[in-house]
Amino acid sequence: MKIMDKKELEMNFEEVFGVKPENCFFSPGRINLIGEHTDYNGGHVFPCAITLGTWGAAKKRDDQKLRFYSGNFEKLGIIETDLNNLKYKKEDNWTNYAKGMIYYLREAGYQVEQGMDIYIWGNLPQGGSGLSSSASIEMLFGVMVQSLFDLDVDRLALVKMGVKTENEFLGLSSGILDQFAVGMSKEGHAILLDTNTLDYKYVPLDLKDNVIVIMNTNKPRALVESKYNERVAGCQEAVKELQQKLDIKALGELDNETFDEYSYLLKDETHLKRARHAVSENQRCLRGEAALEKGDLEEFGRLQNASHVSLEYDYEVTGKELDTLAHEAWKQPGVLGARMCGAGFGGSGIALVAKDKVDEFEKNVGKVYEEKIGYAPRFFVAEVADGTHEL
Ligand code: ADP
Ligand code: MG
Repeated sequence: MKIMDKKELEMNFEEVFGVKPENCFFSPGRINLIGEHTDYNGGHVFPCAITLGTWGAAKKRDDQKLRFYSGNFEKLGIIETDLNNLKYKKEDNWTNYAKGMIYYLREAGYQVEQGMDIYIWGNLPQGGSGLSSSASIEMLFGVMVQSLFDLDVDRLALVKMGVKTENEFLGLSSGILDQFAVGMSKEGHAILLDTNTLDYKYVPLDLKDNVIVIMNTNKPRALVESKYNERVAGCQEAVKELQQKLDIKALGELDNETFDEYSYLLKDETHLKRARHAVSENQRCLRGEAALEKGDLEEFGRLQNASHVSLEYDYEVTGKELDTLAHEAWKQPGVLGARMCGAGFGGSGIALVAKDKVDEFEKNVGKVYEEKIGYAPRFFVAEVADGTHEL
């Protein structure tokens, strides 16, 4: 896997813009250990940032021009816009993420009055990889602009602007998981986040003799958006039905027993299954964190497996690619747990694998996947990283 260092980043910037950059940055991707599709249900998530991510270099300009270049989209060349024209435009492609961040910073009263030249390059698999390259670049731009203009903005405010950029500027629905994980993570730790209160705690991630293997399906980009919106709507419907008897705002407030007792209020099987996942996954997330705190990685792994089962049968967001990866992973020696990760339908899964079994794991799972799916998956060993920072 290619990575970038500061020197190369500066050289690339200079090659494109003809001057040296002022500052360089790194923004990670993220995985979620457990707690999927809970972040828009007021439940818990348990993510960490990874050393795959996006690098960026920037320099202020004397005028109000914004000039962007991505080493991953060389064909698009320099995309140019203006501080006075921070509107979503389809043809501006990926730079809409940057425009959104600058727009919301200015809207909150922060002084960004000069233009910038910005170069980025990332090594996250592109497009729906489930590792959140979009949150990685949102937080990259946020921290970049903060640093260049010396803005006194707190990290959580930037995280929320990232979510707004995704939800309102680009019109893509998503919860807070991705931006929070990318922006707030600490090396060697996972974060348990209560998406209802935004209370969070850093949990040391001691995996002993195991590593996290990311299993990328390599599935061509699926149309996830409409299915995602359907799931969000299904959960909202379920909440409304439960509110006939229960004083709740979100499914994350319920434990399994209470949900079970009131599940008769749900009008159809689909609502029952969607809500059951949201409730049980939140409980699994809490149990998973407790298991990790007491060092019981076997229990943690079983909870990850159960998470996948619930996403497969109740939430129905896995698909044959992610199912093949998880099911084959479960059969391998030295595997504590495996599950899909991210929105689903494609993207990536993760597995907790004994260090000395990783090669065998990749070979065996890769072989069956290729036989069943028709092309190979990609594996990466995830190193746990710091959130977005200056280099
Ligand atoms: P993901 O699951 O990776 O977040 P998204 O569809 O949400 O998938 O975001 C992918 C989009 O983010 C890309 O289509 C592109 O517009 C933008 N993006 C991510 N990384 C880069 C990069 N290195 N350079 C330019 N654009 C990027
Ligand atoms: Mg994304």
